[in-house]
Parts: sequence; structure tokens; C-alpha cells
Amino acid sequence: MKWCDESGVHTVHRHYVESIPADSGRWVLGVNVVRPHSSTTGVELATVPRHGRSTVVRLGTHEADLLHEAIREAVERIQRRAGRDDV
Ligand SMILES: [Zn+2]
Repeated sequence: MKWCDESGVHTVHRHYVESIPADSGRWVLGVNVVRPHSSTTGVELATVPRHGRSTVVRLGTHEADLLHEAIREAVERIQRRAGRDDV
């Protein structure tokens, strides 16, 4: 498997994992694995608006795990509430 998806000259190796359209297509959220030249491998979260500048946050694996847990918890709370509302 080719680890890096980047082409041309680059200093940060990057493997694209997922890109998720959000907020009625106003944003695309990108999740990548990154390996900067002089740093440890981590997760990159990119928020790309349809118009304007992208924001990129690099997370260590622990931080990415926390984000993953937080999003799962938020979704579960919504689903629990939806279940109660149905009763
Ligand atoms: Zn590369």
C-alpha cells in the first residue's frame, strides 16, 4: 500500500481517510493521517468551507480519541433524547 497520497514535492506526508460533506454542503470535513517531516504521526482534521479559508488542526492520537469519544457521546445523547420523545 502506498502510504502517502500527496504528489509533488511536500514536507508533510498525508493519507486521506475520509471527507464528509456537512451543514448542507457548506463545509467539507476532512480526516487525514499525517506524518510531518520532524514530528510524530497524527490525525489531521480539516474544515473546508465552500467559500473562504480552510482550517487545519493536528491532533495526537490521544486527542483524536477524545474527539471521537465526545462525538459518539453527543450522538448517543441525541438518540436517547429522540427515543424518549417518541414515547
Ligand atoms: Zn509523502
